[in-house]
Amino acid sequence: MNIIPNLADIEGRQWIGGFCQELIARLKGRGAADFPPRDQWGRGDPELVRKYERAGMTHFYIRKNAEGRKIVLYTAVIDPEVAKDELNVMVEESGCRLLLHTLCTGPILEGNAVKGVVLETKSGPQAVLAKVVIDSTGDGDLIRDLDTPTDGYMRPGSRIAQFGWVYWIANVDLDAFDEATEKDPDLWPALMKKITEEGGRPFFSRGLLEHQKGVVWIHRLLGSMHQTEPEEMTYIDTTARRTAVRSWELLKKYVPGFENSFIMLSAPQLGTSGGRRIIGEYYLSEKELDRTEPYEDTIAVFADNDRGDASVSHTHTFIPYRSLIPAGIDGLLVACRAFSSDYEFQEFFNLIPHCMCLGQAAGAAAALAVRQGTDLRRVPYEDLKKELLRGGAILP
Ligand SMILES: Cc1cc2nc3c(=O)[nH]c(=O)nc-3n(C[C@H](O)[C@H](O)[C@H](O)COP(=O)(O)OP(=O)(O)OC[C@H]3O[C@@H](n4cnc5c(N)ncnc54)[C@H](O)[C@@H]3O)c2cc1C
Repeated sequence: MNIIPNLADIEGRQWIGGFCQELIARLKGRGAADFPPRDQWGRGDPELVRKYERAGMTHFYIRKNAEGRKIVLYTAVIDPEVAKDELNVMVEESGCRLLLHTLCTGPILEGNAVKGVVLETKSGPQAVLAKVVIDSTGDGDLIRDLDTPTDGYMRPGSRIAQFGWVYWIANVDLDAFDEATEKDPDLWPALMKKITEEGGRPFFSRGLLEHQKGVVWIHRLLGSMHQTEPEEMTYIDTTARRTAVRSWELLKKYVPGFENSFIMLSAPQLGTSGGRRIIGEYYLSEKELDRTEPYEDTIAVFADNDRGDASVSHTHTFIPYRSLIPAGIDGLLVACRAFSSDYEFQEFFNLIPHCMCLGQAAGAAAALAVRQGTDLRRVPYEDLKKELLRGGAILP
């Protein structure tokens, strides 16, 4: 993934800080992030609007404000390869020990308390004991077999009821593409129709980073109501890959500028968008979407940019710490897409910046609980807030 969206609201107020902002700043320092200048967030410089529309990035960058004018959001594009390295660096600098190539297969339980995890590795199974465990598997793998209520409903056709899979095409002569399509405005619509009829998916977005000239990326979404079932995942995986190669072959064959292109990168794993979620100590349901007051344990604020007209009047949304705590279970926090929320809430608030904020809050709360020798439910909010602010979070 290369887009970190919705860092500020439609009025230009930044809400996502913390690790997410730190990552973007570090990547910017390595020439591996790009975003609109701060004085343009929430504003409608026509040049900038045109830049993102032309790049096929309208959904991530452009909204209409209360006056109906197009404005630019604070969204960052990043180089995913540099980001993989920078994230490792950040983890190592923090003093954490990384263990990759390891699948966590379940919790170690004592009654209703999680005491560690079981891992499967190439060298055989291992166990890790812990005072606090945080499930950041995206799919809530650790809660699968726990005695705690969960919800996995997705509305058919919604964003989260789809697998995603991204691939990148390099060595595209976009000047030639622009020249041909500007000379004949009917050409690209006609070619898109032809490619679709022949089994391809032609719509692409442009790489915006300086070193990604001539690079485009294609974001495929494939509907699925069963995003943790291996047979379904296998079908979606093979279908996505086949369509990707077919699409590139057709682009190369028909579209000016793609003659010498090649697929340079495809996502190493299918992207799950929906799936299992806890119904925790606080359940964020559809009715919370219009809430205007912070919670007494607010750990994050998310710009509310994706709900059409509702977003214009309701610019941001609050997240309580309790939404990370599974009901009836001790020693476990859930800090990923599987946080306590219904399908409507997920539809808008389970993206990368959101999950990074949840992760930062869970890490801070876990550290406090261990340091203070207290239960996760009793971590003093004032301490948690102080710790999050120290880490750059933006809280009310
Ligand atoms: C195709 C696609 C495009 C998207 N584009 C964007 C985008 O541009 N911007 C955006 O903000 N969001 C995007 N999203 C959504 C976003 O990527 C996810 O919602 C977000 O990454 C979820 O974060 P997470 O921490 O919950 O899970 P993940 O980011 O999925 O992280 C889970 C991690 O845990 C590991 N893991 C999983 N299970 C286990 C296990 N049992 N043991 C050990 N490790 C495990 C996984 O390998 C993974 O590294 C996209 C999603 C898809 C599918």
